[in-house]
Amino acid sequence: MLLPPFTYRQQNLYVEGCDLEAIARREGTPLYVYSKEAILTRYQAYEAGLATVPHQICYAVKANSNLSILRLLAEAGAGFDIVSGGELFRVLQAGGDPAKVVFSGVGKTRDEVEYALSSGIHSFNCESEAELQLISSIAARHNKTARIALRVNPHVDAATHPYISTGLRDHKFGIDITEVEAVYSRALSLPNLRLEGVSAHIGSQLLNTNPLLEALDALLQLIDRLRALGVPITHLDIGGGLGVPYKEDQIEPPVADHLAAVCARCAGKNLTLMTEPGRSIVGPAGVLVTRVLYRKKTETKEFVIVDAAMNDLIRPTLYQAHHEIVPLRKTFPGTFLADVVGPVCESGDFFAHDREMAQCLPGDFLALATAGAYGFVLASNYNTRPRAAEVLVDGDQWRVVRRRETYEDLIRGE
Ligand SMILES: *Cc1c(COP(=O)(O)O)cnc(C)c1O
Repeated sequence: MLLPPFTYRQQNLYVEGCDLEAIARREGTPLYVYSKEAILTRYQAYEAGLATVPHQICYAVKANSNLSILRLLAEAGAGFDIVSGGELFRVLQAGGDPAKVVFSGVGKTRDEVEYALSSGIHSFNCESEAELQLISSIAARHNKTARIALRVNPHVDAATHPYISTGLRDHKFGIDITEVEAVYSRALSLPNLRLEGVSAHIGSQLLNTNPLLEALDALLQLIDRLRALGVPITHLDIGGGLGVPYKEDQIEPPVADHLAAVCARCAGKNLTLMTEPGRSIVGPAGVLVTRVLYRKKTETKEFVIVDAAMNDLIRPTLYQAHHEIVPLRKTFPGTFLADVVGPVCESGDFFAHDREMAQCLPGDFLALATAGAYGFVLASNYNTRPRAAEVLVDGDQWRVVRRRETYEDLIRGE
């Protein structure tokens, strides 16, 4: 769903002070367009919500890793949650402070751990005992101390899509909450580790924050037990996961209210709070602009064939995700029912089924709303399609922050 600063001025869709169609005509389609104002406003909501407690916001790079967006957030004071060496490289290239980086993920390699340690990241969110042993041995060899938070699996149902739910017993993520104390106790004897944190991330696109608070309560009790065991826990990382409205009838959980509830629970606990928001910072801050190529009628259906495809935005086919589809110019009255599909040779290449659409003709521009998170980062070159360009809007100015790939780009390295 479109949220400000994406708004219609008369018939034309604007983002901040820029006419989206003017940008699309200049840069071509498919095209990702992001709003600097939206990203910073959303980031500041987290800063404001945690202002009364010691805290660090670590933006989850995987949601949107464009260097210009990382730089924007770094300049605003953000740290970063990374899940690979490649993401650390991006953060450093963008001028991010390694001392504000946390490294999550179940499958960190030896090379990635060495890269992170030598870069001086804040801490590792460890997901298994074997990983603890690996980090300890590498840290010992390099004469460094690695700061560690165990990622806990708290057995809380995030009640979201199964592919983006991560906090249940059967999931690959984290260390089971019933085993954490034993793991910490054994880890106390491993050299060159400083066991100082507890972390959790139970899933993504949570519109109801109760599961997050349920997990938090379990973590706070765990921290009391760990401290009693002699593990001096000083930081608590509550992960990311707040949802955003994709459909008109969805209500965004207010960040301020959620963080007030979090801070109230953590009062007097002597903890630095960390959080790893991704989607809720960048999701509503971006759209994917595409152009209608054809309208095609069969006996049972009408198709709108557009120039963007599943390789540009895979969320509809991967998660049955809904993205609103709106015209950049409200030219015609009336609506019709259509499947909106791309040119890729897969029946899974769709953006919407049986969607009520504003009237449109070949050549018209459409925007897929709420595409700033898990959009471009999941793009591929399937069907040998060059990846889209990305534009960042700032007031009445805009610039290309990633140029469209060329055919030459497509064969580089072969
Ligand atoms: C993906 C991820 C996040 C970000 O999740 P959002 O739902 O985008 O806020 C945070 N932490 C970890 C460990 C993740 O894997």
